[in-house]
Amino acid sequence: MEQIKNFIGGQLIDSQSDRISSIFNPATGQEIRRVALSTVHETKHAIESAHLAFNEWSKTSPLKRARIMFKFKSLLEENCDRLARLISEEHGKIYSDAVGELTRGLEVVEFVCGMPHLQKGEHSANVGTGVDSHSLMQPLGVCAGITPFNFPAMVPMWMFPIALATGNTFVLKPSEKDPSLSIELAKLLQQAGLPDGVFNVVQGDKEAVDVLLTDPHIHAVSFVGSTPIAEYVYTTASAHGKRCQALGGAKNHSVLMPDADMDMAANAIMGAAFGAAGERCMALSVVLAVGDEIADELVEKLQQQISQISVGPGINDGMGISKGKENDMGPVISEQHKAKICDYIRSGVEQGAKLLVDGRGYQVAGYENGYFVGPTLFDYVTPDMKIYKEEIFGPVLVIVRVPDYDTALKLVNHHEYGNGAAIFTRDGETARQFSEDVQAGMVGVNIPIPVPMAFHSFGGWKRSIFGPLNVHGNDGVRFYTRMKTVTSRWPASVRLEHHDSHFVMPTME
Ligand code: NAD
Repeated sequence: MEQIKNFIGGQLIDSQSDRISSIFNPATGQEIRRVALSTVHETKHAIESAHLAFNEWSKTSPLKRARIMFKFKSLLEENCDRLARLISEEHGKIYSDAVGELTRGLEVVEFVCGMPHLQKGEHSANVGTGVDSHSLMQPLGVCAGITPFNFPAMVPMWMFPIALATGNTFVLKPSEKDPSLSIELAKLLQQAGLPDGVFNVVQGDKEAVDVLLTDPHIHAVSFVGSTPIAEYVYTTASAHGKRCQALGGAKNHSVLMPDADMDMAANAIMGAAFGAAGERCMALSVVLAVGDEIADELVEKLQQQISQISVGPGINDGMGISKGKENDMGPVISEQHKAKICDYIRSGVEQGAKLLVDGRGYQVAGYENGYFVGPTLFDYVTPDMKIYKEEIFGPVLVIVRVPDYDTALKLVNHHEYGNGAAIFTRDGETARQFSEDVQAGMVGVNIPIPVPMAFHSFGGWKRSIFGPLNVHGNDGVRFYTRMKTVTSRWPASVRLEHHDSHFVMPTME
């Protein structure tokens, strides 16, 4: 059986680890590949390779680095179909959603093609007589990325294109559940002309992660995954003197106001709750319906639309995008995750929520061993219930009925997570007030999944993020660079008296 390799110093290398993890096709439940969980020694080898490549790469002109990114962008486009099929095969999401993921990653690559402009420092002439001041935005060194299973291409591409284009070298530790994409991206970077050692991939789990968090050659760590691990990564990396951005879990709320355009809102909520089987950090998992009338109307529309959803494999010969209608929703990532989602559904019932649509026991003909959970809808959920408080990360939507806008806002703001939040309304004043007062990092007004574009920054609030800087956009450039400010005076422009020694704090005239 094929075993996914490491990519170190420009070479595909078999791991010698005896800890092996299986990769499954979630639609069929079959083992399709394996991946070895790298040892401490192998992880250190990847870091060493990036460390050795740093000096030359950091001194390569920004324009040359950007040109490699231009080429990488073209290669991604040429290979999009093949990569999307691979994502769908290992993750389970439908083909066109996999294309969407690649497109969002590609947009970060497009953003970094402008790095020579983005990495310009500032200059002030004559900050004092004959004295000029300018700043440099210099790369940090070796940076590490640790990524989750749910976006095996997009999330790594939130990180490494910016790190590389700013002159850093990189070690990626992808999810062990769908690791193939990382190697495909590494090969395309090499084909685009990236020098060996600048980008490395080490497959693995906690053992590899712990090396990345503590090795003195690593200068910065970007992490995306669940909140407990994000917190661990942030505290450990910070304690070892590293810059760290760690993005965690979510429970994204939407507030449905009585004046909302109901058709628009219901369609938006359907896609955002059940797309990618709810396995998106920006999935919309809670609706706060303001008033019983609008709640009843929503429930009726959602039930009707849920009955039309087709659940099945993300891609197959009969249902590929070019061969007729695609499914709306694929399987979840694993048998264990399916069981966890079903446990949440059981707890919702036990705690008294009204289960309107039950996705447990969902069978797809011909795919009886796949990890399918059908769309699930709960009404009359209350804030003390587990299905409200915790991130389920599956196709489960909960409706909480609230009497007014203020109660809705309080609930969003009191929740542990603050990744995204949305409001559906026709009233500009309410929308504006919500945008200003809501405690979430990404806000949608009649937009259910307000994922910022690559030239803006992505990140939540509260326990959805640890660290001060978000990913991509200007924050991304700041994260992967450090500022140096140079103040200079040239002897020819110096008047004689300036040669005297001064023992007070320098001021400029
Ligand atoms: P996860 O936290 O289980 O794994 C993420 C990464 O951490 C993987 O590479 C994994 O190998 C590693 N890891 C796992 N356990 C570890 C440990 N004990 N010590 C060190 N490293 C460890 O997350 P997942 O299940 O792969 O992904 C789903 C989660 O990611 C959800 O909570 C989702 O909300 C979150 N997510 C957040 C964002 C965001 O932008 N905030 C984006 C995508 C996913």
